[in-house]
Amino acid sequence: MKDTSKHQGLRNQLATVLTAKGIVDANVLNAIRKIPRHLFIDSSFENHAYQDKAFPIAAEQTISQPYTVAFQSQTLEIKGGDKVLEIGTGSGYQTAVLLELKAEVYSIERQQELFKRTSLFLPKIGYKPKKFIFGDGYKGLKDQAPFDKIIVTAGAPFVPNPLLSQLKIGGKLLIPVGDKTQIMTLFIRKSAKEFEKHELGDFSFVPMLEEKN
Ligand code: SAH
Repeated sequence: MKDTSKHQGLRNQLATVLTAKGIVDANVLNAIRKIPRHLFIDSSFENHAYQDKAFPIAAEQTISQPYTVAFQSQTLEIKGGDKVLEIGTGSGYQTAVLLELKAEVYSIERQQELFKRTSLFLPKIGYKPKKFIFGDGYKGLKDQAPFDKIIVTAGAPFVPNPLLSQLKIGGKLLIPVGDKTQIMTLFIRKSAKEFEKHELGDFSFVPMLEEKN
């Protein structure tokens, strides 16, 4: 698990690429410059780790494209101390970005192999969420609700009601909605019953599946 000055150079270049694509949040860009993404993917792909691309990880899942991670993090306007629920831990790369932004992170993964692997790996490189949960993100995390922010990193066929109801007033849910491709959709909770909805463009995610596996 080596991190070298060559890796650092590649990360700086990646941050430049993301800036050109419209990422302006300095804290998000600093997180991208800091987190050793090559350690999150199979070492045979190491040379590709700092391209702006998604890659296969275990269990037919993918590590999200850096631009997507940066876009979701920037859109949620994460502040220090925000209580954040993440659905789809996957490789843990998005989790690490949230932790660099000083959020208090609860992260749910439905795939046991990934849950085990990532909950061991992330703390080893210094990233410690409040909690890793092996469970079904469609249900949210009722016993820790309400949340300032909820981020979904898998493509949801519909918006799960528990996620909307587990937001604080003023809280934000960012969720890619759709089957083959998804529309990145932001919900802002205005009151107990009112939500403002913003559609933020097309993205492509692996599907959000029900139940644990
Ligand atoms: N942010 C992750 C993205 C991984 S891909 C990364 O960059 O590595 C999406 C992840 O969501 C997969 O690991 C998949 O197993 C998980 N997932 C899909 N449906 C889920 C659900 N209902 N609850 C929790 N996790 C889910």
